[in-house]
Amino acid sequence: MMNYDNKTNTPVNERVIMGYLEEICDPEIPVLSIVDLGIVRAIKVKEDAPGDIEIEVIITSTYTGCPAMDMIAAEIRVMLATLGFKKVTVTQSLSPAWTTAWMSEEGKKKLNAYGIAPPDKRFTIPADGVACPQCKSCNTKLLSEFGSTACKALYQCSDCREPFDYFKCH
Ligand SMILES: [Zn+2]
Repeated sequence: MMNYDNKTNTPVNERVIMGYLEEICDPEIPVLSIVDLGIVRAIKVKEDAPGDIEIEVIITSTYTGCPAMDMIAAEIRVMLATLGFKKVTVTQSLSPAWTTAWMSEEGKKKLNAYGIAPPDKRFTIPADGVACPQCKSCNTKLLSEFGSTACKALYQCSDCREPFDYFKCH
């Protein structure tokens, strides 16, 4: 019986499923959910018969060939199965390609609080001027185009001297 969501007692729809997916974290940046990152592109809920619901979750990889995507797809399936949804498909969509513009404002705030400068659509990898997540100074400089992972660049703050990652815009 999955016509109604047990927690909220509302009919199961895209919004309810999206709410569940907000609890799944990105494996690389655990403070961000896959919804914050904009990885979840669409959710389709189809009722085949009363109590018989089919769910399709469409996800897009943040980076091509990102090995985390299989892990994320598996987590979605496990979570929804645990909630009682038997028919779940996770589709990986390749186009349009993921862009940092899909990251939610909430996600950018969480990223900054975590110590990673969020993507800024004004530039991809600026030589300087990225705000330091620690002291907010813009007196920062690029150390390396590759930070802890390929999707980040490494900067150092000239004021507080802290090195930090910047999530590259693309
Ligand atoms: Zn600083």
